[in-house]
Amino acid sequence: MPSVVIVGGGAIGLASAFFLHQAGVGSITVLERGAIGNGCSYGNAGLVSPSHVIPLAAPGVMRKGLRWLLNSRSPFYIRPRWDLDLFRWLWHFGRSATARHVQRNAPVLKALLERSRTLTAMLQEKIGDFGYRSDGLLMVFQDEGYAECAALAQEAARLGMSCEWVTKDRLIELAGTRVQAQGGLFFPGDAHLQPDRFTAALASFLTQHGVCCQSEVTVTEIVRQGRRVRGLKTTAGFFEADVVVLATGAWSVELAQMVGYRLPLQPAKGYSLTFTPPPEGMPQRPLLLTEAKVAVTPFSDALRLAGTLELAGIEQTIRPHRVEAIYRAAQQYLPMLRWPVLETAKVWSGLRPCTPDGLPVVDWVPGSSNLLLATGHAMLGISLAAVTGELVAALVAGKQPELDITPLRGDRWG
Ligand SMILES: Cc1cc2nc3c(=O)[nH]c(=O)nc-3n(C[C@H](O)[C@H](O)[C@H](O)COP(=O)(O)OP(=O)(O)OC[C@H]3O[C@@H](n4cnc5c(N)ncnc54)[C@H](O)[C@@H]3O)c2cc1C
Repeated sequence: MPSVVIVGGGAIGLASAFFLHQAGVGSITVLERGAIGNGCSYGNAGLVSPSHVIPLAAPGVMRKGLRWLLNSRSPFYIRPRWDLDLFRWLWHFGRSATARHVQRNAPVLKALLERSRTLTAMLQEKIGDFGYRSDGLLMVFQDEGYAECAALAQEAARLGMSCEWVTKDRLIELAGTRVQAQGGLFFPGDAHLQPDRFTAALASFLTQHGVCCQSEVTVTEIVRQGRRVRGLKTTAGFFEADVVVLATGAWSVELAQMVGYRLPLQPAKGYSLTFTPPPEGMPQRPLLLTEAKVAVTPFSDALRLAGTLELAGIEQTIRPHRVEAIYRAAQQYLPMLRWPVLETAKVWSGLRPCTPDGLPVVDWVPGSSNLLLATGHAMLGISLAAVTGELVAALVAGKQPELDITPLRGDRWG
């Protein structure tokens, strides 16, 4: 069995380490520049959502995005700048935002998401409680969000996914609190987990089983001989490896560039606000507030709001007016909540690694025989972590994965 070094200690890197360990790989090292689990995998909404079968690049998104650009409190923002990579990304994004693309990629996402949910539930049995709950997801709309819900319901029916239209009364019953909305869709097959506990449980299991998880180690160079990677230069010395896995989330462009591969990926910043203890009367299940693009996740000891997508490059500045917009939007949908003041929330920002077509890349880096990419999970990195880990383990073992991963290839943009 080869020795494997994984770069990136987020949900994707740790899940890959877990499945490699299960496959019997003897030497596994995870190298993380900061603290393990402290990247985008830390403060996200924690939704494990097989319902998210419509990729980010979908018809109408460009039009809506342009409208939102004019509103400083909207859920979407692009920092104006001269950046060829951003233009290239937007060009590919535009080409992918078609009905044909959704028709082709939604079944791919469905298969990956469903497999991942099964594996995530299995992980909780195996590595300990990380707050995984199969409570479903309520997607609610006030007005124009109806069209989006209807499109998703149609796609769900086409793919044979379980989903229920809910009236105002049923909404209140399911949410366990008053919701200011016209109605919604309920996805009973969705789940959620507490993301910081998820990565902590994975890291703790791995360490106990002989996997070396090293924090505060930055990879500075990928050393190659021909098509093969020999090892990695890092701030803690040289690491030899038979196989290297890049699970570096939003920073993957930088790492891929070290071997001359131009990965079209943009960091998309999002924020979360966590209220601990949770406010009185909080919803009993996760909600998605369709028009506001805000996720509301109840944890055992807290309530989290998450939202906003900013294409602003690699930077994690917290913009107060956007944080406030998330909070105000949630208040509009959940008026009966006794909201704690905004200042008591723990505010966090993270960078989603977004490819232009909304699918991750799980493939050998083009032109390299032992460098594997596992990145680009956008808003689905928690949902897809487990299946990605399983795919990584299959590829490293030279096995054909059971799921068709042709759409996840790294050379799909030419
Ligand atoms: C507001 C918000 C809400 C979200 N909600 C959800 C949700 O409900 N469900 C869901 O499925 N997804 C959600 N996501 C998306 C999800 O968080 C990401 O897709 C996922 O965390 C990506 O995981 P990752 O392991 O690829 O990246 P990360 O967790 O960012 O890990 C990558 C790691 O690589 C390390 N690294 C980078 N460069 C180097 C280097 N040179 N050397 C060593 N280490 C390096 C970084 O320090 C980082 O820790 C959300 C994201 C945001 C921002």
